[in-house]
Amino acid sequence: MSATRSPTVDRVVGGQLCTGCGLCASVAGGAIAMDPASGFNRPVQTGPVSAEAERRIAGACPGAGLAAWPDAPNRHPSWGPWRRVGVGWSTDPDIRHRGSSGGAVTALAVHALKTGLVDRVIHVLADPANPTANLVTCSTRAADVIDGAGSRYAASSPLAAIDAALADGGKLAFVGKPCDVSALRRLARLDPRVDAHVPLMLAFFCAGVPNQSAARKILKAMEIAPDELVSFRYRGHGWPGDATAVARDGRVGAMSYGESWGGYLAKEVQFRCKICPDAVGGSSDISCADAWYGDAAGYPSFAERDGRSLIMSRTARGEALLAEALAAGALEIEPLEVGEIDKMQPSQALRKSLVRARTAALAITLQPRLDTRGVMAEEAAASAGLKLRLRNFLGTVRRILAGRR
Ligand SMILES: Cc1cc2nc3c(=O)[nH]c(=O)nc-3n(C[C@H](O)[C@H](O)[C@H](O)COP(=O)(O)OP(=O)(O)OC[C@H]3O[C@@H](n4cnc5c(N)ncnc54)[C@H](O)[C@@H]3O)c2cc1C
Ligand code: SF4
Ligand code: SF4
Repeated sequence: MSATRSPTVDRVVGGQLCTGCGLCASVAGGAIAMDPASGFNRPVQTGPVSAEAERRIAGACPGAGLAAWPDAPNRHPSWGPWRRVGVGWSTDPDIRHRGSSGGAVTALAVHALKTGLVDRVIHVLADPANPTANLVTCSTRAADVIDGAGSRYAASSPLAAIDAALADGGKLAFVGKPCDVSALRRLARLDPRVDAHVPLMLAFFCAGVPNQSAARKILKAMEIAPDELVSFRYRGHGWPGDATAVARDGRVGAMSYGESWGGYLAKEVQFRCKICPDAVGGSSDISCADAWYGDAAGYPSFAERDGRSLIMSRTARGEALLAEALAAGALEIEPLEVGEIDKMQPSQALRKSLVRARTAALAITLQPRLDTRGVMAEEAAASAGLKLRLRNFLGTVRRILAGRR
């Protein structure tokens, strides 16, 4: 039996639940391509999708469902399962400086490469042809992994070539958004090559992917045209570091993290991110985040400082790698009480507490839904007051009915 279109892709894209991960394109053998034209990466079906490809897409697409969090000695409704929680940074000053926060993700990936746990790392970096956008790459050299350090607030499809990477064999580390990692974990249930060839999955906390139009507005505010651009970073080179654009004639535009994220990027995040039930990478081996300091009012402060990453090892594999990287002196870490994350990441906690209210709005308006089992969405809802949940439920219903999610 063969299918022409993928019902899963049609439902997920139609329901604005697509994360842009690229998994469907990868497993569909050329029948699906990722298209950035909308400002987000979206699948376009150009040929018949086989029944086998559809089985994999239906079982792994993160717009349809999520991987249940793994077993761990501890779990928290907002912060996921964990074995160790700490605040840390790369001991390599270059990685710490170039990294988004403390360079922990890069330090861990580089350590895995140097010790032979993996022979390559799948990660993203700036697209040289369009520096506000992302390219996915597979690096075998530490220097190339370090070139990808830093957060890129733009669409990325790190799974778009995963099928070919698995076919190539060897051992690879995967760095992606929580939804990318969740999809790869679910693919592992259908494809034994994932567990055989991917001993390490790293994720970061994720507030959502903004449309590319937000980056264009930042460039406009900097008075640099997109076709003049030779490089663009969203942050990093300090913590948090400025959004920085360099034009061909040498002009440099800079904008603080607070202004670029709060004033532009956060306003254009895709709908799927607003209902994200696992934006903390609960199914990764290790996830990292900004270990923001709270200011006097209890909100995270974006004042420039030496970078530090929140580090959560989640699986036995992740904890083993973290322990090894610490013993080898690749990272330094200070222990942290899990409750302290509430002060560092209040907006993550708030969004998680509202996931059930917002996804209920999908159900009542008969929209395609996301399966949110296994990530403690119900438990997280208990931390939001009834009034707030009701307001979010009604607000989401209103936006869906008005066609402006
Ligand atoms: C879209 C987005 C939203 C985020 N939201 C939050 C948040 O709400 N709270 C929070 O604490 N942190 C958030 N972060 C993560 C945060 O900015 C840092 O990545 C995290 O603190 C880890 O820092 P690091 O210095 O350890 O990582 P680094 O050592 O700088 O490594 C970052 C890694 O992430 C990869 N990467 C960067 N952008 C992307 C992308 N778009 N898609 C896939 N891989 C990518 C890089 O290739 C690199 O391997 C977000 C990042 C992104 C990209
Ligand atoms: S979420 Fe990923 S697998 Fe699902 S439709 Fe979008 S790109 Fe394809
Ligand atoms: S917020 Fe969730 S759905 Fe959106 S990009 Fe991040 S992990 Fe994926």
